[in-house]
Amino acid sequence: MIVLLWLFQTVFLDMIYGAVKKRDMKNCASDVCEITLDGDLGDGVVAAAKKYDCCVSVYSIEDNYGELIASAHIQTACIIHRLEDNNLLNEFYEEAKEHGSYVKRIEIDLDGSEKIVTPDKRSGSDPSTVIYAEVTSEGATDYLVLVDSEIIPISATTRVLTYQLIIITALLLVASVIASIIISRRLSRPIEKMTKEASVLATGRYDVNFEGGSFREAKELGDTLNYAAGELSKLDAMQKELIANISHDLRTPLTMIRGYSEVMRDIPGEMNAENIQVVIDETTRLSSLVTDLLDLSKLTEEGAVINPERFSLTETVREALSRYSHLVEKDGYDITFEADRDVYVVADKTRMLQVVYNLVNNAINYTGEDKKVTVTQTEEGGKVKISVTDTGEGIPEDQLPKIWERYYKVGTFHDRGRVGTGLGLSIVKNVLTKHGASFGVTSKIGEGSTFWFELPISE
Ligand code: ADP
Repeated sequence: MIVLLWLFQTVFLDMIYGAVKKRDMKNCASDVCEITLDGDLGDGVVAAAKKYDCCVSVYSIEDNYGELIASAHIQTACIIHRLEDNNLLNEFYEEAKEHGSYVKRIEIDLDGSEKIVTPDKRSGSDPSTVIYAEVTSEGATDYLVLVDSEIIPISATTRVLTYQLIIITALLLVASVIASIIISRRLSRPIEKMTKEASVLATGRYDVNFEGGSFREAKELGDTLNYAAGELSKLDAMQKELIANISHDLRTPLTMIRGYSEVMRDIPGEMNAENIQVVIDETTRLSSLVTDLLDLSKLTEEGAVINPERFSLTETVREALSRYSHLVEKDGYDITFEADRDVYVVADKTRMLQVVYNLVNNAINYTGEDKKVTVTQTEEGGKVKISVTDTGEGIPEDQLPKIWERYYKVGTFHDRGRVGTGLGLSIVKNVLTKHGASFGVTSKIGEGSTFWFELPISE
């Protein structure tokens, strides 16, 4: 900006001033030409002269004889009204007639006498006047329009401007240095601090606090980093808890298997079906835990694919429920399935079985004293909805969105009856999302929960 100011206010000022003057004179001349041809001179010439701040004379020229027919005398230092004294009038006429227009600059000496110079030899320091001539003809008559404008030397003005510009430049430089120091302090200091905090975060310490300062962008960065640190610490805590849970879950069945096996080996008569069943049950528990972990890691892998096929969803639910027949018989669970007819869907059968199995498993784990679990199949708008309802404690509303997260468990209890890794619902969510299916949960504290999902029916 400063460079532009310097260029326009000093270097180009003279040029621009001259160009503006010349343009004004040209416009004034063409206005006057129009008025002349209209034949209505009078006040028109004066108005044009006033408009452009120039002096104007109009001559009609016939048979080499020129007669002044209109004139406007606006500026005192003009010379077109004194042209008859020298032979310039003739020159203007000849030149303008030949070229359409003619410009001449005349410098005025201090004693008032004129000194004629060509336009390109302007000294710039003496007052001068520029005369612009234009010829227009009508019939045998030529009209010579002369426009005169005083050129005031601007070197003095330029000096004043230069002086002002020096002051402005100095002030601006000081102001911009101060502004940049303030800005860089307020912007770069917080960023430097945040960089340090981020390297602390990278070492695994999550108790860092990112302060972005007062600039919006830096503040937003600080907030985002704080959020990321919070999420990382949550994930870290969850993973630690998961490892603790998994090791506990792995160790308990292993201890049982080992204990029972040793008893059966060492004590005669203990090798009975009941004890062997305990070993088998514990092995099943172990294997389902490992399967859950593997499933989830497979499902969350990039590019995990589903293999859709057409199958009876109703039959799949029955199949999942049949796995619990021994629970029904042995522990008195009341598992019911309500379906009007067999409904077919196109989906990955193995994965859907897994979804139903996980939902029913949770319902059994978390249902109330009455050990009741109800699975229902309903149809609406071309979709089949499977709902799994239990009569358990229910899930607090603020926890509802979180239960679908990996490793998430409501509360931190960990009792033997509820073997949970916090992975089941995460697997359910992954499978159903991959199928584009809608799913959800409604729950009431003390009354139980209903988990559901919907798939389009394939008739
Ligand atoms: P888990 O293997 O621990 O059951 P899930 O991912 O299946 O893991 O479930 C996450 C958490 O959601 C559970 O720990 C439990 O607290 C809660 N939850 C899931 N299903 C039910 C249910 N039917 N009733 C009450 N709470 C449930």
